Amino acid sequence: GGLIMGTGIESSSHIHGLFQHTCVAYELVLADGSLVRCSPTENSDLFYAVPWSCGTLGFLVAAEIKMIPAKKYVKIHYEPVRGLQKICEKFTEESKKKENSFVEGLLYSLDEAVIMTGVLTDEAEQNKINRIGNYYKPWFFKHVENYLKADRTGIEYIPSRHYYHRHTRSIFWELQDIIPFGNNPVFRYLFGWMVPPKISLLKLTQGEAIRKLYEQHHVVQDMLVPVKSLEKSIQTFHVDLNVYPIWLCPFILPNNPGMVHPKGDEPELYVDIGAYGEPKRKQFEARASMRQMEKFVRSVHG
Ligand SMILES: Cc1cc2nc3c(=O)[nH]c(=O)nc-3n(C[C@H](O)[C@H](O)[C@H](O)COP(=O)(O)OP(=O)(O)OC[C@H]3O[C@@H](n4cnc5c(N)ncnc54)[C@H](O)[C@@H]3O)c2cc1C
Repeated sequence: GGLIMGTGIESSSHIHGLFQHTCVAYELVLADGSLVRCSPTENSDLFYAVPWSCGTLGFLVAAEIKMIPAKKYVKIHYEPVRGLQKICEKFTEESKKKENSFVEGLLYSLDEAVIMTGVLTDEAEQNKINRIGNYYKPWFFKHVENYLKADRTGIEYIPSRHYYHRHTRSIFWELQDIIPFGNNPVFRYLFGWMVPPKISLLKLTQGEAIRKLYEQHHVVQDMLVPVKSLEKSIQTFHVDLNVYPIWLCPFILPNNPGMVHPKGDEPELYVDIGAYGEPKRKQFEARASMRQMEKFVRSVHG
């Protein structure tokens, strides 16, 4: 529901678009109790208004979705890149290549990143298979950081299911704030099978004081901006937030009718800049900073 009524993105979105762009029809129950089907040719105004409507137009009860065949493994290539300009250029270049089934970047500081590209394959070199989803394995973002620290490129074959869940165990990097020793090998081997905790459980057990602290000293924000504004956007978020790692995930935005579309008539390559964690900016003020960032995102047509 949320992936359609809100939005959904993956590292394959530079080819397939956002989750809603893989949907070809919806069925909704409207406020008057009627069941309505909509598609690009049937009640098309409703069809294009559904994404980003967050449940305000009706209750989504069915969706017809295009299936995209998967293979056994994702052959992933890790490449450390230094220098913000180089990072943005490399990320944009890889995102434009149709032969990359997956593209993703993890930015560890203003000028250090690992750019990952992946292709689906049924064949794998046995000594390069890495089942990253096993509970005792290092958190994925820490594993990726090792390529940066060692300053080396690498190739691995990750079982597809493990790849799709690569950020699940550590909730991207949110778990390091909740269980700081969670990536310690001893903890992983003994208790790794117990994580991640259910987000709903965390919310349920969170007192009012902790909730307020989170609200004031923690961000979970995805800024969707045209890829041509990537460098400027990262610089702005560095000043306004200073949160690392940052998730970079490209997506193609078609010029469909509806609330969110590019400025021009053609489809445009965008990037999701995901900032999750505790801002290190001095005197961070949650509400004011968010308003400032929203203003910036609008100014670059994000
Ligand atoms: C750990 C974590 C990792 C994530 N990683 C990613 C990621 O990699 N990529 C990504 O795109 N997103 C990611 N997300 C966010 C993700 O998009 C949302 O979690 C997802 O949209 C939630 O879907 P949901 O069905 O649970 O919707 P909810 O969170 O329950 O709802 C989202 C919105 O949609 C509305 N809604 C939901 N269902 C319906 C319905 N049937 N009819 C009408 N309105 C409805 C709700 O009213 C609400 O406004 C992540 C979230 C978490 C917590």
